[in-house]
Amino acid sequence: MLSFDNTENAFSGKSDSDLNRSYMLFKMVSNSGLVKFGKSFTNFAIKAHLPINGIIKATIFKQFCGGENIHECLKTVEELGKYNVGSILDYSVEGKTKESEFDETAEEIIRTLKEATTNAHIPFGVFKPTGLVPIEVLEKVSAGTKLNAEETQAWENMKRRVDSICKSAHDYNVHLLIDAEETWTQVAVDALVRDMMEQYNKEKPIVFNTAQMYRRDRLIYLDSLLKDAQEKNYFIGMKLVRGAYMEKERERATSMGYPSPINDTKADSDNEYNAALEFCIKHIDRIAICAGSHNEASAELLVKLMGQNNIPKNHPNVWFSQLLGMSDHISFNMAKEGYNVAKYVPYGPIKNVLPYLIRRAQENTSVKGQTGRELSLIMKEKERRSKARKS
Ligand SMILES: Cc1cc2nc3c(=O)[nH]c(=O)nc-3n(C[C@H](O)[C@H](O)[C@H](O)COP(=O)(O)OP(=O)(O)OC[C@H]3O[C@@H](n4cnc5c(N)ncnc54)[C@H](O)[C@@H]3O)c2cc1C
Repeated sequence: MLSFDNTENAFSGKSDSDLNRSYMLFKMVSNSGLVKFGKSFTNFAIKAHLPINGIIKATIFKQFCGGENIHECLKTVEELGKYNVGSILDYSVEGKTKESEFDETAEEIIRTLKEATTNAHIPFGVFKPTGLVPIEVLEKVSAGTKLNAEETQAWENMKRRVDSICKSAHDYNVHLLIDAEETWTQVAVDALVRDMMEQYNKEKPIVFNTAQMYRRDRLIYLDSLLKDAQEKNYFIGMKLVRGAYMEKERERATSMGYPSPINDTKADSDNEYNAALEFCIKHIDRIAICAGSHNEASAELLVKLMGQNNIPKNHPNVWFSQLLGMSDHISFNMAKEGYNVAKYVPYGPIKNVLPYLIRRAQENTSVKGQTGRELSLIMKEKERRSKARKS
């Protein structure tokens, strides 16, 4: 029986000192004042070349990242693999602006795909579109604004990079997730990823787009993509998430005076997420799903839908995914029950993954939400271990 309350499974890979470190860390990030201070201090310290890499690496980096390079991540990959939890090597370097840097990022992503060919514990690669092109170019293409010569070149370069990554995924036979970001960049990304699916998903789903179900229009998007895929005969890969940019989306909509593309309430986003799961399961022969979520009810619903539709637990078209350092109670318990599970394992030089780490810290400041859950699970496991030692 699947249960998310089994903390022994959830933390089987964690030593007592790992647990204590996680506990301290979630306690610290639950203090929003401390997170604000930490963000400013870290940015200042990096600029001032203060020697803080060691402390970051031993604390928040260790919790949420696999290492500074692919080689350093392999220990985490191996460790997760022991419990049948796959790894998705996520080169999380942000803030690059030069064309040569975008080329380097594309090459690094291809290296993660290559690594997957010799490592059974790496079922997917992943990338963020804004890691490969200036965001302004994505924005202009999405808005249908005319590009100048330099921007046209940047967009051509982006298309070349995305094609070469998708082709590598196809040739190496490794699934590839493409993250979704702000709505004002997504039109261009959706069109590009559709082309990639048509080209590289002819035999099986290799390339996955991401649908953010906090958006009001994503069920319509899924429906029209399915019609296109049926007509042109390709498979769809779809990561389903709720969406990470809610505040930013709403602020921009208000300040620019257009209707917010985001659902009005959390319940609406939950309903749309559930409806998307149902839609994909109904068309499981055409659509492969990666459910990227830390929400237990969503995982339970997907399990229920699989059962109702006689879909085996390890069906190649259904994956559950969480981020490293979060919701191990979902990942490890599901993997133990035989479901396909893979965790994002972000990596990169400390300085460059800081924006990712700061986002994780910020999103975990709510004790009522994710952090409360993480803390109570860690405490429960600490207690269980202490009782087991006494008996
Ligand atoms: C493996 C993985 C991959 C991911 N990839 C992406 C990605 O490519 N792009 C991306 O944007 N995000 C991505 N995310 C993050 C994801 O979108 C969510 O922000 C995060 O997982 C929290 O949602 P949840 O389903 O886990 O849990 P929950 O805690 O149940 O949901 C929280 C989410 O609900 C929505 N929500 C909350 N309050 C409201 C409200 N008042 N009105 C409307 N909606 C509301 C928001 O989307 C919020 O993030 C990914 C997450 C995971 C685990």
